[in-house]
Amino acid sequence: MHEDLIVHRPQGLYCPPGDFYIDPWRPVERAVITHAHADHARWGHQHYLAAAPAAGVMRARLGAIALQTLAYGETINHHGVTLSLHPAGHVLGSAQVRLAHQGRVWVASGDYKVAPDRTCAAFEPVRCDVFITESTFGLPIYRWAPDAQVFADINGWWAANAALGRASVLACYSFGKAQRILSGLDASIGPIVAHGAMQPLNAAYSAAGVVLPPTVAAAEVPANEARRALVLCPPAALGSAWARRFGEASDAFASGWMRLRGARRRGGYDRGFVLSDHADWPGLLQAIAATGAQRVIVTHGQVPVMVRHLTELGLQASAFDTEYGKEDGNEAGDGSAPGAAPEPVPAPATKPAPTVTPPAAPDTPTA
Ligand SMILES: [Zn+2]
Ligand SMILES: [Zn+2]
Repeated sequence: MHEDLIVHRPQGLYCPPGDFYIDPWRPVERAVITHAHADHARWGHQHYLAAAPAAGVMRARLGAIALQTLAYGETINHHGVTLSLHPAGHVLGSAQVRLAHQGRVWVASGDYKVAPDRTCAAFEPVRCDVFITESTFGLPIYRWAPDAQVFADINGWWAANAALGRASVLACYSFGKAQRILSGLDASIGPIVAHGAMQPLNAAYSAAGVVLPPTVAAAEVPANEARRALVLCPPAALGSAWARRFGEASDAFASGWMRLRGARRRGGYDRGFVLSDHADWPGLLQAIAATGAQRVIVTHGQVPVMVRHLTELGLQASAFDTEYGKEDGNEAGDGSAPGAAPEPVPAPATKPAPTVTPPAAPDTPTA
């Protein structure tokens, strides 16, 4: 009998008794997909299994794939392994994968956040023996404000720009972040323009029952209306001919990385809104504690910091070397700015990472 229910293989994270992979980065026969972001849901697998609410976004990203879906909490048995999917609170259809086999329970979380989000099901703590976690924002400086506050800031910025007769161009990742921002916009301020890259995903969200305000394509906005518009686009569209049609505009970027003053400065945005689809430092620790797991394996992000911190908490902590957060610069975390890739932030390495730290100097040390 295999000791571990999930092991590292060159193709990805593998379940030996079940003979399937979770979010593999190389083509395999059977892939269980936690969510449709590009670094987790890749092309080329023969069979895909994902949560039912992910079906639309999976097909919007991957086209015609052999996709089987499970409702959250529904179980299937494969070669003696009982598998179920549970909400991860990250993006529409995101799931933690629970595996039970011969009395052992393992949970692989993919990406997750614990704060509420109107555009997807809330994170569900799942008890397990071994928990596989991300650590994208696994440093004590990462603490998110409530969504209501961030949306109030975005709407206030938009309204102030509209009053001055200039458009508000807000860059963000097209899948997940864009829809979450849309859900918080005050459509009474002006028209909302969505970049073409976002439209299939917006449609998938709407089809799944997520209520979003109406958006228009850039070409559909009358010139006299454009100066009051909120324009959502992927980071690569900032400064492009597409964005220049809106004339003198204020530009901004919405990402967890905007917590770092250096990332804001290098990006040259007028504004940075700190909004992430990943758990912040307290959220990661809360989620890990809620599993009751005595053993934790960290997949990506601030891996050494998290492993060390969990070890100090008395847990058995280790890492898997994965390809997550690497392929798509935009999702390496959740939207690193062009030219503002999240450089390794020197961790509070010389002393144990404290459990509670006041929001520290946010700037990224440059040396
Ligand atoms: Zn993700
Ligand atoms: Zn990811």
